[in-house]
Amino acid sequence: MQRILVLGGTTEARQLSARLAARADLAVTLSLAGRTASPAAQPVPVRSGGFGGAQGLADYLAAERVDLLIDATHPYAAMISANAARAAELAKTPLLALRRPPWVPVAGDHWTEVGGAQGAVDALGPEPRRVFLTLGRNELAPFARAPQHHYLVRSVDPVDPPLAVPDAIYVTGRGPFDEAHDRALIEAHRIEVVVAKNSGGSATYGKIAAARALGLSVIVLRRPALPQVPAVETVDAAVAWLDHAVTP
Ligand code: NAP
Repeated sequence: MQRILVLGGTTEARQLSARLAARADLAVTLSLAGRTASPAAQPVPVRSGGFGGAQGLADYLAAERVDLLIDATHPYAAMISANAARAAELAKTPLLALRRPPWVPVAGDHWTEVGGAQGAVDALGPEPRRVFLTLGRNELAPFARAPQHHYLVRSVDPVDPPLAVPDAIYVTGRGPFDEAHDRALIEAHRIEVVVAKNSGGSATYGKIAAARALGLSVIVLRRPALPQVPAVETVDAAVAWLDHAVTP
């Protein structure tokens, strides 16, 4: 029996765990950061909360006798990915990263790529605009320095406290959000520009497709640098890697 720890918080981590849950040769635990008030149901046992940095994670890997570590966290969760790489070294535990490929702009897209939330604020400029903000709750603070805009803010959990701007509307939802859904939302709120991470995958691509169809600009936060570790892009590829890794 091989013990596997999946660092999750993503659709892919849940899908991978579901694929592995029934296997008699594997014991899978899924790790969540514990940020979401009502996390989605998961197909395997879950542990929740931080480990206390790379050393904390290395200690966990040793104490729980984890045979394989899979980093299936979100591509913008750079800290836990760096910690996973370091912890795997410290504990001498094989590590695989499961990372969705980024979206690539296609004909009809009007993207401005920026380095972070402050870069997005700068790119919005001084004139008031109607902005659809689809970043995580933790990245909203810089937009308080641009109170001239109207904001439509979408997040998984409510933004509390709300953004300190006079003109903001909040919607919550976990997705997936398809193009028709996001187009209707964008049109209902007369949105002029979308601010998004390059999350990759299909679950949140609706706003990118809707912006293209409507000829809107998208300000895209560039992906953070991630550690160089063995990596695959799909759940199928992760299962194939695991089959190879756990073969006696
Ligand atoms: P982060 O900045 O990379 O990590 C901050 C700290 O949170 C880590 O140092 C670690 O604490 C803890 N942590 C993060 N992911 C964890 C996990 N799966 N299990 C246990 N501890 C974890 O992470 P983040 O960007 O805040 O993301 C938090 C979670 O939300 C991740 O699981 C990620 O997959 C998910 N998520 C993030 C985004 C995003 O845009 N960032 C989007 C969708 C989902 P310790 O140092 O104490 O171990």
